[in-house]
Amino acid sequence: MSRPIQVMKFGGTSVGDAGRIRSAAKIAADTSKDRAVVVVVSAMSGVTNTLIAAAGKAAAGDESAAEALAKSLQAKHHEAIGELIANIDRRRELLAEIDALIERAANHCRGCALLGELSPRALDVIAGTGERITARITAAVLRELGYRGVAFDATDLIVTDDVHGGARPLPVPTRTKTQAALMPLLEADGIPVVTGYIAATAKGVPTTLGRGGSDYSATILGAALDASEVIIWTDVNGVLTADPRMVPDAVTLDEVSYAEAGELAFFGAKVLHPMTLRPVIESAIPVWIRNSFQPQQAGTKITHSVRPAPKGVKAVTATRDVAMISVAGPGIIGVPDIAARIFGATASVRANIVMISQSSSQDSICFVVQAADATRTEKALRDALYEDVHLHDLEHVKVNKNVAIVAAVGENMAGTPGIAGAVFSTMGKESINIIAIAQGSSEYNISFLVDSTGMEKAVKALHQAFGLGKQELGGEARPVAQVTS
Ligand code: ASP
Ligand code: MG
Repeated sequence: MSRPIQVMKFGGTSVGDAGRIRSAAKIAADTSKDRAVVVVVSAMSGVTNTLIAAAGKAAAGDESAAEALAKSLQAKHHEAIGELIANIDRRRELLAEIDALIERAANHCRGCALLGELSPRALDVIAGTGERITARITAAVLRELGYRGVAFDATDLIVTDDVHGGARPLPVPTRTKTQAALMPLLEADGIPVVTGYIAATAKGVPTTLGRGGSDYSATILGAALDASEVIIWTDVNGVLTADPRMVPDAVTLDEVSYAEAGELAFFGAKVLHPMTLRPVIESAIPVWIRNSFQPQQAGTKITHSVRPAPKGVKAVTATRDVAMISVAGPGIIGVPDIAARIFGATASVRANIVMISQSSSQDSICFVVQAADATRTEKALRDALYEDVHLHDLEHVKVNKNVAIVAAVGENMAGTPGIAGAVFSTMGKESINIIAIAQGSSEYNISFLVDSTGMEKAVKALHQAFGLGKQELGGEARPVAQVTS
């Protein structure tokens, strides 16, 4: 391949209606003038939620869920297609293709209603319908603009394991398939438009990469194609020093490192799927977060090496989307296998553990999982520890959902003494009670657990204490001269 390859991903709001899809196609078309472009698209915003909700309703016995789903998906996509594709024959052809996809999803829902069951495997098939539709629409719009847009289902490109709802890519077969499918088109100056979010096992069974997984799709494809960069087009200006809904003077960061962006994503900053950077770190492919609503903004560049923050902390993030689980009782002390059994149980349900803390004096092990994992983790623990609780070696397994994790993130916190002190004395001054603390050995973050009512106050106070606001860092990220659309 002679020209550099850019993979660009458009999230749900960036393809949220006809106008947004047209802007996305124009950004891709303009960029393709001086490099090869691979487009990755999410479903139109709201569509994945609608699909998942319909599947759930159908499985719970609601026989009208399939019809309601088909109607709402048709209304939304027909309207967009009506605005985007002028030629009657081309429009009719596209509508037929989209209607077949919608009908297939509705049929799967009917199957769920009949069986009264929704397996993770079936849910993946249904949930990925939205991306299959937007890929076809976006490719068609590129053709309207005079470019060779071709839609691809990533089920034919990205090979994963079979963990439905959160599958992980297998890089070697993914590379082979992706290159074989996309390179000829790229060589011929075409623009592939690939579905985000979905993939398939080696046997061809459809999987998904987890909610918000289209970001991950983009970097998986970027790595497979040795792309020179990956652009995540979204609806915010980039990675911010804090969530602007909590901290109005939050600033867009020009650059962050892979490690910093990874920590921020892990601790609740919604800007990236937490796995997104994995595929590109080794080959050092830069990832940009940019705002498709304000393409004149430069966005945030994520790479290996970046300028350190003056006071060590670069950004503060927080999430209430977690639950604390504690296991306590005299049996915790000195029983060598208890931790292994606890975490064996959490692993068996693939719970995502955000933080762990053990206190031997209080006879307790507590850890924090994502809220979505709380119920199944609690059940797995109760099953695994049933005997111990029964024999009073353990007193309880408790779940507390009224907590929030706050994390201060910054690369050169490592080896800088006093940062933890400053973080916690700030909390002291604000009278915020800290329930548990964790600092990764990477020292890219200091994270702690507070009562959920104290979260916002904690974030605001840290943002201020580390001078992350507008005045201190010198205003918004600088705009770039050239406008992309
Ligand atoms: N459409 C999927 C979701 O809503 C994937 C994505 O948007 O990244 O989770
Ligand atoms: Mg997203």
